Amino acid sequence: MTDRYAVIGNPIEQSKSPLIHTAFSQVTGQDIEYTKLLAPLDGFAQVVDAFRAAGGRGMNVTAPFKLDAFAYATDLAPSAQMAGAVNAMKFEGDKVYAENFDGVGLVRDLAHNLQCPIQGRRILILGAGGATRGALLPLLAQRPAEVVIVNRTVAKAQELVELAQRHQTGRVPVHGVGYTDVAGSFDVVLNATSASLTAELPPLPVSAFAPGCLAYDLTYGKGLTPFLQLARQAGVTRLADGVGMLVEQAAEAFAWWRGVRPDTAAVIEKITVPVV
Ligand code: NDP
Repeated sequence: MTDRYAVIGNPIEQSKSPLIHTAFSQVTGQDIEYTKLLAPLDGFAQVVDAFRAAGGRGMNVTAPFKLDAFAYATDLAPSAQMAGAVNAMKFEGDKVYAENFDGVGLVRDLAHNLQCPIQGRRILILGAGGATRGALLPLLAQRPAEVVIVNRTVAKAQELVELAQRHQTGRVPVHGVGYTDVAGSFDVVLNATSASLTAELPPLPVSAFAPGCLAYDLTYGKGLTPFLQLARQAGVTRLADGVGMLVEQAAEAFAWWRGVRPDTAAVIEKITVPVV
């Protein structure tokens, strides 16, 4: 019997997850059906309950429901506990196992697809929302030289510094600052704000980009965003968006559900919108 999976969000029309998972199922020969589920903003649990009752085996969770999924889960993996958010669930009887693969997806895209290892590098992360929460500890586990989190609302950046201090096993220095306090230059600059969704530019000084650095916008499918444009004006030639992160986190979820990790290169190529 075909096993059923879905991605849940609001809005959900834009989601690439069905395309990605259908491609994975074809290359791995797994018999699955993967659909999109739109839930009302106050109706997450009811929609998930109905999907489970109809035999659904697992779900990806996208905005704005990653915290609802955290509350809904019965068994949280460390990745989800530390991020305080869930982006994948697996249903087995009464159990709802929950994971957050965003961070591992980002690290894999950087280190493997883009050949940009994190160890020993100075990392600047713009934004202190859910994406940064998910990415922070997996990034720290790679032993960068330093991580600076810059956010409009500085208190949120500082909260994440405390989270890192509580949970990271290494001793990587982590700082939380406002945009006027960004000092020095960085080897990897990650835009984890949602500014690119509305073609806005965080007020980042161009001096933040070190020569030869990688500028990476977690927002995907928007081409040359204002952030990537700024990096290019600063002389940065290594530009990337978050499409690889999206596909890599999907591959982690697929492997967790089905026991086989699909190759990602062809799917990344298929859905990439060029950033130059
Ligand atoms: P959140 O809403 O949780 O956080 C948004 C962050 O962006 C906050 O830190 C906010 O600052 C900041 N921000 C918003 N607008 C601006 C602006 N104009 N200037 C400066 N800062 C701004 O969003 P998420 O963390 O969930 O997502 C962030 C982005 O990452 C989204 O575009 C999302 O699509 C992308 N993403 C990509 C993934 C992938 O697989 N590639 C996975 C997850 C997310 P403040 O706190 O001050 O309001």
